[in-house]
Amino acid sequence: MIGLPGAPVIRILCVRLGKIPCYFSRKGVSSPPMNTQLFKQLCEATGASGFEYGIRDLIIDVMTPLADEISVDNIGNVTALIKGKSSEKSIMCAAHMDEIGFIVRHIDDNGFIRILPLGGFDPKTLTAQRVIVHGKKDLPGCMGVKPIHVMSPEERTKMPAVTDYVVDLGMSKEEVEKYVSIGDSITRVGDMIEMGDCLNVKSIDNRGGCYLLIEAIRAIKAAGKTPDYDLYAVFSVQEEVGLRGAQAATLAISPTFAFALDVTIAFDTPGSGAHDKCTVLGKGTAVKVYDGTLITDSRMVKFMTALCEENNIPYQLELLAAGGTDAGAMQKFTAGGAITGAISIPVRNVHQSIEMAHKTDIQASVDLLEACFTSLDRWDWSWKRIERTLAPIQSVPATKKCASRKKK
Ligand SMILES: [Zn+2]
Repeated sequence: MIGLPGAPVIRILCVRLGKIPCYFSRKGVSSPPMNTQLFKQLCEATGASGFEYGIRDLIIDVMTPLADEISVDNIGNVTALIKGKSSEKSIMCAAHMDEIGFIVRHIDDNGFIRILPLGGFDPKTLTAQRVIVHGKKDLPGCMGVKPIHVMSPEERTKMPAVTDYVVDLGMSKEEVEKYVSIGDSITRVGDMIEMGDCLNVKSIDNRGGCYLLIEAIRAIKAAGKTPDYDLYAVFSVQEEVGLRGAQAATLAISPTFAFALDVTIAFDTPGSGAHDKCTVLGKGTAVKVYDGTLITDSRMVKFMTALCEENNIPYQLELLAAGGTDAGAMQKFTAGGAITGAISIPVRNVHQSIEMAHKTDIQASVDLLEACFTSLDRWDWSWKRIERTLAPIQSVPATKKCASRKKK
C-alpha cells in the first residue's frame, strides 16, 4: 500500500482526493486510498460474542488468498499464518472479531423477548434501536423500554439497565416461537455512513481492528516484503466477554511478540477534561501505554513510537483508565510472558449503538502495524536500561533469507 519494495516510505504529503486521505511515498507514488468498502463489510457483518458465524465466514474469504495456512480452532478463532523470514521467534497479532450483542433469555406471553447482554453495553443508547434476532431466520426487531410519558418523575432521572429492555418483533408469541429459541443471539443494526473524514457505523469495536490486520498484511504482500518472524494473525472470538478466544489461541501459539489491535476511547467531545480525553479523533494511531488489563511492555512502546517518528506516522499515547484488550491475555498466557504491545483506533461513542472513527487514524494504524511486522529485528529487546534507536534497514540477499527459514 505504501511505497515500493526496498524504498523506505515517508509520508510527505497528505492530500484529499474527494474525501479520501491519500499518502505519497518518497518517489511520489500514491498508495491506494483506504478500503472503505472492506471496512463497511467488516463492520456490518454480524457476530455477537460466541456467535461469530457471519464475520468468521467473511474473514476466511478475505484472508485465504493472503495466508500460507488458515485454520479455525475449537473455540472458533480464525488463525492465518504468514510465513516470516525466520521461525526462531513468532509474532501473534490478535484482532477480536466478536461484537457486543445480546442473547435471548425468555419469550413472554405477548411475544416480547427478554435479553441478557453479551459484553458491556452503554444502555442509555439502546432505546428504540433496531436489532436483528438470529433465529431459524434473521428477524428485524426493535429495543423497547417504558415510554417517558408513563414514567414517574423518579424513573425519568434513572438510566435503564440493559435487562429493562425488551426486543419487540411485532409478532405474537406463537409466531416468534416458530423462529426464535432461548439462547439465540441478537446484534445491532447500524449501516455505515461517511461524515466528513469519519466513518460512522456499528461495531468499529472491533471490526476496525480486523481491518488493520487484513490491510497491514495486504500492504506487506503488495510491497513484496516478509514479516521478520512467522506471523500468526488471529481473529479472536469472545473478547467482549473476557478475552476468552485470545487466551485459548495464545496457549496454542506461545508467541515471542504479541500485538493486539482494538479501539480505544476518544472522549474528545464537549465536557471532557484535558486529562481524560484518552485520545482525540484525527490525531493519529494510538500507541497503548496502559489499560485495565495491561501495562504495555515499555520496550514495545518505545519501539512503536520510534517507528512512528521514522515513518512520519501521526500517533498519540493511550492510557485507558478502565477496560482492556486481547493484549492483556496474550502477555500473561504465554509461558514466560510475551513482549506485548497494542495499537488502537480512537473511537467516539464506544460500546454504544453507533461508533465513529477517523480515516487518518485508521490509515496511520495500518502503517504502524506494517512497520512493526517488518522491523522487529531492528530493535534491541534486552532489558538493558539504555537509549535505543532503530537499526538501519538491511537489504538481505534472497539466498540468505531462505537459509534462515527453519521449520517450526
Ligand atoms: Zn469492545
